Amino acid sequence: MGTHNVAFLGLGAMGLPMALNLARKGFIVSGWNRSPGRGAALTEAGGRLAESLHNAVAEASCIVTMLSGPAAVAAVALGPDGFLTAAPKGAVWVECSTIGPEAVRKLAAAAEAAGVQFIDAPVLGSVGPATKGTLHFVAGGSADAVASARPVMLAMGDGITHFGPVGAGAGAKVISNMVTATLVSAVAEGLALGERLGLDREQVAAMLGEGPVASPIVKLKAPIMLNEQFAPAFQLKLMEKDLGLALAEAHRLGAALPTASGAHEAYAGARTAGMGELDFAAVSAFLRLMARGPLGRD
Ligand code: NAP
Repeated sequence: MGTHNVAFLGLGAMGLPMALNLARKGFIVSGWNRSPGRGAALTEAGGRLAESLHNAVAEASCIVTMLSGPAAVAAVALGPDGFLTAAPKGAVWVECSTIGPEAVRKLAAAAEAAGVQFIDAPVLGSVGPATKGTLHFVAGGSADAVASARPVMLAMGDGITHFGPVGAGAGAKVISNMVTATLVSAVAEGLALGERLGLDREQVAAMLGEGPVASPIVKLKAPIMLNEQFAPAFQLKLMEKDLGLALAEAHRLGAALPTASGAHEAYAGARTAGMGELDFAAVSAFLRLMARGPLGRD
């Protein structure tokens, strides 16, 4: 397929830089965001901001959604005001949010009923890769639909893994975030125990961040845990949501995930303690408090 006319729905921390890459690479981009005022940079990059969902998708051959969670995507897609009632037949919908396989399957059925092709294509990588155009897409859907959306994805990223039918990309993404979240909370717990043992926090962070435990995410987050500057690259409440999606799938399948369950408890506790809008590395501040014991005796 030639150059797509792209409707981009959701111009948040991830969506805006992704839409900017499309506009800068020559795609015709109509952006839409629920709250006005977000996405002004899109017009400077050659795109346009649509005043309504229906207007955004009216001419689209490809519709990209990048929204916070399952309820947000359902609100934007379904019902009389949802974009599916106005989307051109045969357009391909590339659903990039992290919403899990169950929500994806329902949305794909609604898309099919509206004559719209569907792929789930959540992304590996945060705001940095979204800005640089180096996201990795983990995709589910028919080979034809993935091939059709390929140029759009490769304008926002540098790789695509097609995992299988609809829901397979969402499943892969949930696994990736589940492992990321548990690894980061495990490192945070190591730091907290080190402190209780009277060890030097910097030395423990260096051991975990540079030794056999090291990985790109640990290298990135260990210094942030040390200096406790939690400006959000990826909000803790979104990571809690993703762990919840993994646990919901496990529950559906009757599978036990004890490690992820423990991590989910830690992120939920941190969110309840008011850290939901911080970077998910802030789970370390919560686990540091927990390690002080029930009376916070230190
Ligand atoms: P964000 O900055 O909070 O943006 C969320 C977007 O969803 C905003 O455009 C928001 O609109 C919209 N939204 C929320 N509820 C809505 C509703 N009911 N109806 C319509 N729009 C709604 O989040 P983000 O960091 O870009 O994350 C977006 C998705 O990407 C999430 O699924 C996240 O898990 C995933 N993800 C994030 C990262 C990351 O590092 N940030 C990395 C990979 C994947 P308003 O402006 O009106 O609130």
